[in-house]
Amino acid sequence: MTTPMRKQYLDLKRQHPDTLLLFRLGDFYETFDEDARTLAQVCDVALTSRPVGKDQRVPLAGVPYHSLDTYLGKLMAAGLKVAIAEQVSEPGKGLVERQITQVMTRGTVTSPDLLTQAQNILAAVYLDGQRGVAGIAHGDLAEGHLAATQLEAPIHSELEMQVADELMRLEPNEVLVSTRFRAENPDLDLAIQRMGCVISELEPWIWAEARANRQVQTQFQVQSLEGFGLANKPAAVCAVGGFLHYVESYQPLIVSHLDRVQTYVLTDFMTLDEFTRLNLELMENLRTRTQEGSLLEILDRTRTPMGGRRLRQWLGQPLLDVEAINHRLDAVTQLYDDGLELRALRELLDQIGDLARWVQRIMYGTAMPRDLAGVRNTLALVPALAGRLPEAGPGPLTELLRSLPHCTDIHDLLDRALVENPPAVPSQVGIIQNGFDAELDKLVTQTRDAKTRLSQMEQTERNRLDIPSLKVGYNKVFGYYIEVPRSQAEKVPPEYIRKQTLVNAERYFTEELKTYETLILNADQRQLELEQALFQGLCAELRARQEDLQHLARKLATLDVFAALADCAVVNNYTRPQMTDTFDLFIEGGRHPVVEKASVLPNMSFVPNDVRMEADKALQILTGPNMAGKSTYLRQVALIVLMAQMGSFVPARSATIGVVDRIFTRIGASDAIQRGLSTFMVEMVETANILHHASNRSLLILDEIGRGTSTYDGLAIAWAILEYIHNVEHLGAKTLFATHFHELTDLAERLPRVRNYHVTVDDTGETITFLHTIVAGRAERSFGVQVGRMAGLPKAVVERANQILGQLEASGAAVPASLGDVVPEAKPEQAVQPTLYLEEHPAISALKNLQVDSITPLDAMNKLYELVKLAEQ
Ligand code: ADP
Repeated sequence: MTTPMRKQYLDLKRQHPDTLLLFRLGDFYETFDEDARTLAQVCDVALTSRPVGKDQRVPLAGVPYHSLDTYLGKLMAAGLKVAIAEQVSEPGKGLVERQITQVMTRGTVTSPDLLTQAQNILAAVYLDGQRGVAGIAHGDLAEGHLAATQLEAPIHSELEMQVADELMRLEPNEVLVSTRFRAENPDLDLAIQRMGCVISELEPWIWAEARANRQVQTQFQVQSLEGFGLANKPAAVCAVGGFLHYVESYQPLIVSHLDRVQTYVLTDFMTLDEFTRLNLELMENLRTRTQEGSLLEILDRTRTPMGGRRLRQWLGQPLLDVEAINHRLDAVTQLYDDGLELRALRELLDQIGDLARWVQRIMYGTAMPRDLAGVRNTLALVPALAGRLPEAGPGPLTELLRSLPHCTDIHDLLDRALVENPPAVPSQVGIIQNGFDAELDKLVTQTRDAKTRLSQMEQTERNRLDIPSLKVGYNKVFGYYIEVPRSQAEKVPPEYIRKQTLVNAERYFTEELKTYETLILNADQRQLELEQALFQGLCAELRARQEDLQHLARKLATLDVFAALADCAVVNNYTRPQMTDTFDLFIEGGRHPVVEKASVLPNMSFVPNDVRMEADKALQILTGPNMAGKSTYLRQVALIVLMAQMGSFVPARSATIGVVDRIFTRIGASDAIQRGLSTFMVEMVETANILHHASNRSLLILDEIGRGTSTYDGLAIAWAILEYIHNVEHLGAKTLFATHFHELTDLAERLPRVRNYHVTVDDTGETITFLHTIVAGRAERSFGVQVGRMAGLPKAVVERANQILGQLEASGAAVPASLGDVVPEAKPEQAVQPTLYLEEHPAISALKNLQVDSITPLDAMNKLYELVKLAEQ
């Protein structure tokens, strides 16, 4: 026999079996069964049990209702979905009615308390392997943003890879897929799991094309999907369908406010695969997995959260169109050229908050009074912003500033309506300013008058009755009262009616007091109701101007990014790159934007380097010892190109950059293994991927490819790859190939478009100093042995290594067929002395082998002689 409440709980649980159900029980949200164990573990609360029927107990854990948000934060962070069942009938006789009022998932939360990250992306992926198409829909619900794209590839693994790359760029918190998806695309599933986001599965029918089409049309109230660029993009539509369905089931309020979907085509942007993104440390440092030491950290000088989000987006999607890139660069230049204006603009931006999110909360009906105050304060700054750059002629930035929607009417309304610092929640009085609403003013005056009269009454009664300690007070249960000490009670006149007796005092009320009380309490209640209504009215007015406000938010975000990039250029001494549609890539005095800022550079500054790549010198082989700066140089070239194409100035004295369609970066397996990323197999798979996908306009950064296998294999593979890039017609991509295989430098003699470069070192014979300068020609030798000595290898090892090296070099062979043919045996005196692990002395061994029990006295004597002899040897 289970209790009725247990039955109710189980019924609710069945509605959302995959969620953790928080069941409101008085002042607590309780969880039962497995949920209780999870809650106890994740939130570190006590696990107990509760009887649910005769002889039946189940695990129980709960959290107090008033700290729900704290615990929700923890549950969301742990990737759990949470359903909340509230009490929806007044507690009285019998079972309180309960309903699930909300289901929250990591990708659909919009409450400011739960949004811990800069962005909160929900993504939906639909993949149709048969047709070779995939759709991705994604959005940040807190910003009210929804976008979609369709990807196409004839080969399944390629399609999966594209999807993974795009998801990596988006960094979603939650990914929606079909229940069939994971089994059908195990590799992609694994890749998504690795991203550390929540994966939620939806039934296949939800993704069906016809249903998705219908939902998308109804949602956006259109007859055809053409207007959204979704016609002929069935997979994208299915993804949007899945997205909308999910948001609708969990956040019905929100879904109705998604009124557009932005379609984009990946080919409009530079392609950056997952590996390249990670390896160039765009968003986070590979080692620490934090933003520290990433390009984003250097560039992100934005002053508003919306600007911060926009910058991430630009960094993840560099442009391909020279005109569009120059448009951004022009805007940055305008600010770069005018330091005073840049400073003034950034000071103004400093005072702007997250307009985009405030506006969205107003749309969703979840706005707080402070969100409206934020909108007001931002709007107050628009005229000042719009009037910046007063001297500037035409230019994209002046255009942007002059076109900011002012929304003066909204500003005036909020300015008149709201107090300077409104309370946090709308259920408190004191939101609306004096003079905004006549009725409210009247109520406030009435209350104030009544309160004044009460305090006057206190004084008159004291005098009249000669009780100096008489006082008028208020408490929640009894209301207003007149308190008189017990000792003075006999002075109380007959019209005083006793209300409450305390230990030392009596409390009374009078008809007059009653009148004031009613007046005050009614007025307070009325004021609260009226303020709430006025607040809602304000929200409604703002909703009507949603378009303008959102438009303003978008423009301010862009403005913020321009100002950040200009400031970054000034602070770090960057220059504006010349963008071209040609093949060429010329950089003079280029620097690595992150390494040049690193404090670890040993008391010297960063050494700038040049790069010249033209169609007839497209491939560079870079040799030089470890730690010379090869990787840094390779990455710096890639980063400069990427920064330029996102619209940023670059760390160089000058740069001319022919737009690049993709950047591929690969590093040798041993580096990757260290970082837990890859094996030689993966290295090769990825290199294959490059060779299949790179075009003549790509930039290839290959660092120690082939290192992850034996010398012969590695050399052979590296050699073949370079030849292929050089020879295959459609390729010939700009390639930087850093290698420790010196033999590869011979390639420059055979292949006309290959050039040798090396990193210089100052070699004194004993030690070497890294100069970090890249110059033409092959490195003389690899200095590996010197580096070994500097790293503290034992002297004997260094000497022997030098000897082997000398023999090898003298033999003249690139790589000898057999080392034994060339290298002589080590001489005994060179053998490393076994000092730590001494071999056992023969006498000791003999002693150990002695069978003491079975030996005769005579044998024992002989043995003793033998042992002494052995010991003497
Ligand atoms: P490699 O790839 O040749 O082994 P790295 O590129 O990893 O060498 O560089 C090793 C270190 O040398 C870097 O961490 C950095 O501190 C320093 N370095 C590299 N390039 C430069 C440079 N151009 N100027 C100053 N220091 C540099």
